Amino acid sequence: MDMRIILVEHPIDESLFEEVGEALATGSIVAFPTETVYGLGASALLPDSIREIFRLKGRPADNPLIVHLLSDKELDGVVASIPDAFHVLYEAFSPGPLTYVMPRGELIPDEVTAGLETVAVRFPSQPAARALLAAAKVPVVAPSANVSGRPSPTRVRHVLDDFAGRIPWVIDDGPCEVGLESTVIDLTCSPVRILRLGVVTAEMIFEKTGIEAVFWKDVVQDEVVERPASPGMKYRHYAPRATVRIVLPKEGLSMSDQLIELMDPEISIGLFFSESSWDEFRSKMDAFPPGLYVYTYEGASDLSKASHHLFDALRTLDEQGVELIYAEGFGGENAAAYMDRLTHASATNEDAEIRQVLFVCQGNTCRSPMAEALFNDRYGDTGWRAISAGLSTIPGWPVSEHSVEALREFGIDCRGMTSKPVNRRMLSQASLVVTMTTLQREWLRRSAPELKDKIISVADISEQSQDIADPFGETLISYRQVRDELSEIMDDLHRFLQQSDHL
Ligand code: AMP
Ligand code: MG
Repeated sequence: MDMRIILVEHPIDESLFEEVGEALATGSIVAFPTETVYGLGASALLPDSIREIFRLKGRPADNPLIVHLLSDKELDGVVASIPDAFHVLYEAFSPGPLTYVMPRGELIPDEVTAGLETVAVRFPSQPAARALLAAAKVPVVAPSANVSGRPSPTRVRHVLDDFAGRIPWVIDDGPCEVGLESTVIDLTCSPVRILRLGVVTAEMIFEKTGIEAVFWKDVVQDEVVERPASPGMKYRHYAPRATVRIVLPKEGLSMSDQLIELMDPEISIGLFFSESSWDEFRSKMDAFPPGLYVYTYEGASDLSKASHHLFDALRTLDEQGVELIYAEGFGGENAAAYMDRLTHASATNEDAEIRQVLFVCQGNTCRSPMAEALFNDRYGDTGWRAISAGLSTIPGWPVSEHSVEALREFGIDCRGMTSKPVNRRMLSQASLVVTMTTLQREWLRRSAPELKDKIISVADISEQSQDIADPFGETLISYRQVRDELSEIMDDLHRFLQQSDHL
């Protein structure tokens, strides 16, 4: 697909937005910047375009979208009624990174709200976003412009990583100012509830408006929640492929001293820290571990700079194929949104709820990445998460083109996955290791005899399943066959996992 990229100049020339605004209003998908993250925009009035957004992102259909408007004058038909708290909050925080959940109006199709009787509405402040909304003259849904589950996009490069050639329009206005998603507040209940944390905190809301908002998790602590208040909260978001660990400031131990203790020459490590922490660390080290990658932001440790760079850092370090990312944590109420994103990113199988299945093949560019993507697509939200690695590979090879194509035919996007050599840490972290052939299984069992009980091959999963041959170097037809074989195995594997309580 031809893709047009509009480079925004300041001050904004509104005529630059006429054609793209018209395209958006008549059904095209347009990626555009907001002050929080880049959004993947579609008209909120056109069900087909909205479905296309879900398809492109691989977003679960029960995760509703936020409707973007220029001002409160456009609420007619978008919301059915306006709760009292809205006006004073709007005065204080809009336009800006606060999203309001209100009763849904008759203009809004089911596709937007995932069938809910409420709708989320936001008024972005970013000038290019506003120029686009003004030109489109329709309400616009705009979830983050990333494939679901990947760190959110805060730069055009991130949008292109996930959607180059798959959408017709991209508006480029540089990095996003805030870098974290908006705060979502539910105004349909009393007291009003914060469903998702962003830079606007409950303290700020109270200070500016006197309204006391509660955090939904605090409300439901003792109740059994059948459906999380904000459906999006139940998905594992913002997750890079590497494991993320948070390094918190500790009394009497500087960041750099903590980092020195954490270094491990056996694994490739990525660091996300301020330049000054990094300088201090560097001055204390004689030599660096070979697999160390660093992403720093200017100056001393600073929460808003760290928030601004967080998603770019996770993506950039991931691209280097690191296994472990250490990121600087911050304390205090203002850091809640940043820490929330980092905690989501750092959810690993060590959090009791998420267990890991590790697929292993030879090069980690064809079979095992396909298995990983197929598994996560179907069962990634069931308390299990797949990762993959190779027996003889080097870090950073992209997944093979035919694998990408074969999975694209299944509506799964696996571009951006890169190879990783299997290591002992991965083997011990995973609850189950599944190789593509029995030979690979034997090889792994011999190299880690103490873990051999949890190392199986696909042929062990069910009576019908057998070794999966390497399609490397063959045509798309062979890759499709591998995909279909793996696809069939996934259901049996999931049943196997459910029956294996000991894992
Ligand atoms: P995203 O577009 O990826 O930033 O996600 C939008 C967030 O807003 C998700 O977490 C949704 O669950 C939440 N959201 C959207 N609409 C509603 C709604 N009607 N009620 C509750 N949460 C909503
Ligand atoms: Mg998102």
